[in-house]
Amino acid sequence: MGIAISPSIDPKASSFVSKTAKILIGGKWSEAASGKTFDTYNPATGEVLARVAEGDREDIERAVKAARKAFEVGPWSTMTASERGKLMWRLADLLEKNLEEFATLESLDNGKPLSIARAADVPLAVDLFRYMAGWATKIEGATFPISVPYAPGAKFFAYTRREPVGVVGQIIPWNFPLLMAAWKLGPALATGNTVVLKPAEQTPLTAIRLGELFAEAGFPDGVVNVVPGFGETAGAALAAHPDVDKVAFTGSTEVGKLILQAAAGNLKKVSLELGGKSPNVVFADADIKGAIRGAASAIFFNHGQCCCAGSRLFIEQPIYDQVVEGVAEQAKKIKIGSGLDADTQMGPLVSAEQLARVCGFLESGFSEGAKAVAGGKKHGDKGYFVEPTVLVNTNDKMKVIQEEIFGPVVAAIPFKDTAEVAARANDSIYGLAAGIWTKDVSKAHRLAEKMRAGTVWINCYNIFDAALPFGGYKQSGWGREMGKDSLELYTEVKAVCAQI
Ligand code: NAP
Ligand code: MG
Repeated sequence: MGIAISPSIDPKASSFVSKTAKILIGGKWSEAASGKTFDTYNPATGEVLARVAEGDREDIERAVKAARKAFEVGPWSTMTASERGKLMWRLADLLEKNLEEFATLESLDNGKPLSIARAADVPLAVDLFRYMAGWATKIEGATFPISVPYAPGAKFFAYTRREPVGVVGQIIPWNFPLLMAAWKLGPALATGNTVVLKPAEQTPLTAIRLGELFAEAGFPDGVVNVVPGFGETAGAALAAHPDVDKVAFTGSTEVGKLILQAAAGNLKKVSLELGGKSPNVVFADADIKGAIRGAASAIFFNHGQCCCAGSRLFIEQPIYDQVVEGVAEQAKKIKIGSGLDADTQMGPLVSAEQLARVCGFLESGFSEGAKAVAGGKKHGDKGYFVEPTVLVNTNDKMKVIQEEIFGPVVAAIPFKDTAEVAARANDSIYGLAAGIWTKDVSKAHRLAEKMRAGTVWINCYNIFDAALPFGGYKQSGWGREMGKDSLELYTEVKAVCAQI
């Protein structure tokens, strides 16, 4: 295999893509049981980037067995919390040491600018593992005063233990491949679970490379298993597996519902982080320049391929024209190009399929009367690029307003007052995030309370921290990732009651 990438790119990344990427099961790297492979593409060129073993049902079967063994039999299950935390910290150090390689692989596989992968994706993943390493020693229970009317005079000692759920299946998307792996693996490992991870078919490389670091950090065999492959085969087998205790999924709401159905067989625990159609509200009393920059980055960051992208931009009427013009100007200035070029601000979409999807949404919007004041079409004739687009003349019933586009397309919508905008902002099946831009502190917090969304950003957007829980209301998901809340997704509570 191998690709014609510039020799100036990170040599370790270049060497990694030149070999067939394998499956990690029980500490061993292997081909798929079927012997099949699939290709992953460089979205900037559409050319084959690397060849990857195509895991399927049989590989998932072996991986779940390995994870079960690692969970039931030592050394992972007998390790102290402190030892577990130290391993996670060591993993974070190794990831940081290999930052350039991981950032390069992420940029090649996903298309995002290398500068962004260096500054955001990899450091955020490092930070997440460090944050979660700290939690390993802080998983606590409680004691309870027991009053039993039918056992007069008896004394009891009752307490809770927070225990790992067991074997966890994790299925992740392609928009932040490494970071999504970290969000999933961090809390699962801090709480003592074992994992089978299935990365997205478009972007499996950093998850596979991360698998190597787990061994290097000293994690016992089988604690983390990585099975690249397709959703309909490997993913579905993992979600349905009767010996998997929990499945955690990030991706489309449509597939989230399939995961739920698959999980019903053994009633495994489910957590879901799904789509969004997040409102971003700019009031006339905002710092307008800051709000314009913020609104543009809320939608154009990661090419709009963010579940929390600020895709419905509500603008108070008196400043509507000014903000639309400002965001359109920002959109037109964005330098589009290969993620590896130093001056690129926006790379290609992840795949030909996504390009077709986003262009389909644009056509649908135009056919219903929307107009583009910036962008509006595919960019260039090589790779999967689309122009940063600002739509006007929409109405709330249009497909481009109701459905997640997952591309660099924002609709600018005028509004009159706070009550109106709160109702329209919440008029969505989703509830992942929301933005508010105003200098009026009271107004901001009053509206934040009204937003039916898991995250509300005030005078900022896309601010993430390992300590801050993230997740959705309504059809944006079940449960919260990151922060202390994520530990609940990966633990069972056991009440122990003893007569003393
Ligand atoms: P997707 O199908 O939901 O993919 C997410 C993950 O689920 C991938 O690993 C995928 O494998 C796997 N999967 C697919 N079908 C499955 C099944 N039946 N059982 C188990 N796992 C399954 O997302 P997509 O098709 O790549 O993108 C479609 C749309 O989803 C996007 O346009 C966007 O609207 C949304 N999306 C949302 C997020 C988010 O962060 N919330 C992320 C990505 C996409 P494959 O890689 O083989 O498909
Ligand atoms: Mg898919």
